[in-house]
Amino acid sequence: MNETLDPMNRSSVRVLVLTPEHTDYLWYVAMLRNDHEILPDLTWCPDLIDCDDLVRNAHFDVILWDCCLHGGSELAFLQYLTVSSGDKPILALGADSEALRTPEMLINGAADYLRKGSLEAWGLGRSVRCLWYRQQVADSTQGQLGAEVASGFINRDLFFDRLQQALLRAERSGHRLALLHINLDDFRAINENLGYQMGDQLILKVAERLRQVLRRVDSLMRIGGDEFAIIIEKVEDSLDITQIIRKVVGVLGDPIVVDGHSVVVSASLGVATFPEAGDTPETLLRRANRAMFEAKRDTGTSYRFYNKQLHITAGRQLKLEADLRNALRGRELELYYQPRIDLTTEEVRGVECLLRWNHPDGHLIPPDEFIPAAERSGLIVPIGYWVIEQACARLRDAANLGHPGLVFAVNLSFRQFHDRKMTETIFRIIYNANVDTSLLELELTESAMMHDPEYAQRCLRELNQLGISFALDDFGTGYSSLSNLQHLPISLVKIDKSFVQELGASGDAEHIIRAIISLAHSLQMSVVAEGVETEGQLEFLRQQQCDEVQGYYYARPMPWDDLVEFLDARNRLACLQQ
Ligand code: C2E
Ligand code: CA
Ligand code: CA
Repeated sequence: MNETLDPMNRSSVRVLVLTPEHTDYLWYVAMLRNDHEILPDLTWCPDLIDCDDLVRNAHFDVILWDCCLHGGSELAFLQYLTVSSGDKPILALGADSEALRTPEMLINGAADYLRKGSLEAWGLGRSVRCLWYRQQVADSTQGQLGAEVASGFINRDLFFDRLQQALLRAERSGHRLALLHINLDDFRAINENLGYQMGDQLILKVAERLRQVLRRVDSLMRIGGDEFAIIIEKVEDSLDITQIIRKVVGVLGDPIVVDGHSVVVSASLGVATFPEAGDTPETLLRRANRAMFEAKRDTGTSYRFYNKQLHITAGRQLKLEADLRNALRGRELELYYQPRIDLTTEEVRGVECLLRWNHPDGHLIPPDEFIPAAERSGLIVPIGYWVIEQACARLRDAANLGHPGLVFAVNLSFRQFHDRKMTETIFRIIYNANVDTSLLELELTESAMMHDPEYAQRCLRELNQLGISFALDDFGTGYSSLSNLQHLPISLVKIDKSFVQELGASGDAEHIIRAIISLAHSLQMSVVAEGVETEGQLEFLRQQQCDEVQGYYYARPMPWDDLVEFLDARNRLACLQQ
């Protein structure tokens, strides 16, 4: 609470606002701004993908939820929200009357319901205030468990009890569980240099940081002067654990300011997982402790798993991510280009830009091996922008080298849609590059749009207005039908290479390809067949009036210089044939 900053001495109340409309959000801000008792601190979240992360990891006092966010699934969402927010008060806002909706909303977990149509500042302020007060009272009752609870610590008995309960839950649900034992390095030296009082303050700050990166389901306990234990529940695989470790290591890495002194702490982390390392609270703690002592041998913040196998996979993932981060900085990434041939004119219509990683150990790593890691860690977002930047630069080079009008297609990952600033950033890149946007095409898969169709559609429309066109990649492997997608600005469909490669081997592939082409054409979309390797495949596609092909038959993806040579050679050939 930052009462001291507010001249009216109001209590700061953190409100998460889940609404798709920015204007609605601004309207709520305006209504709450002048409340006499609370100083609202509002955070806007327009889409459901980011919402999960915010609800679990950030700290809010009240959640303001606009039910209009969902089609017919609002009650299911409300139940999810109640659970994932750890029973935070949820104020639901909807179009129907209060008499009609309130009972149902309360039964499903909302703390209050208000009709948007009759909303005004006083009513909204009162509701938010009441929910906040109620929560304060509830929290202070829990505070009887001990003052430590309030500061994020829980006592040892409670911790063992929680661990026992968590183990039972893990057993029932078939999830893994991880126990993290954290020990600050050289804490004695810190105490001696700064004094015990500041040492204590430092510990509190460390605890606060740890708490910020943990999810609601995780428990943090101080088990010694400079030691913490964390229970991580609902672990699916080693990646879940590495994500948390990554965050823990990350927050411990930043200097901590205590009383004007900037202190850098390092810590050793030991991890023991259920069921691999044991199934009782005592065994897990003992083994996490042992792993922690092993981690002490390294300098700086480091961690060790008790279970060797898990250690290897988790370690590999973290290393891959660290290498990838360096790759982006160190110019190890490169684009290869694969031509797309127009079947009526035999001309190169465009190229698909495909990422390669020149690893410092001399290997060329294909995207299938590093893109999943880049997606999991979020690194695909900056990498994706780099790819677009590079493609734009090459688009200009191509025109200057006598190949104007080539379409440059870039792949867009589903994860890039999580970036709230996606359209804005892409706009900035193409504006700076000063290229003809009609020559830029973005390829995306159906799944990229599945997470949050409304937001994805909005992005597509905004980018389309700038002149960018869209292609649906790997078509045929997903579930949606083309007609479902016809309201999207998609002008091209790429038939997945698995169908092309089945040609001749199964009649199914022929039927599917025929159907895709005729449907796409009836919806005014062009068709590109991918993975064309043989004359036979090419002939079939030609007969079916497929518009373009891409595949080893014509060319493999190649570095820029080779592409320029390829284009020049084809131009020369075309001249000779005229
Ligand atoms: P994709 O978008 O389906 O790309 C086509 C893949 O098929 C490319 O693999 C290409 O080399 C391969 N291919 C093309 N013609 C043939 C052929 O005749 N036969 C066979 N067997 N394969 C052919 P690549 O370059 O390994 O890329 C794999 C995937 O990685 C891409 O699949 C795409 O999903 C992803 N990717 C590549 N670059 C990027 C990028 O910049 N961003 C994102 N988000 N994903 C990328
Ligand atoms: Ca593609
Ligand atoms: Ca594809």
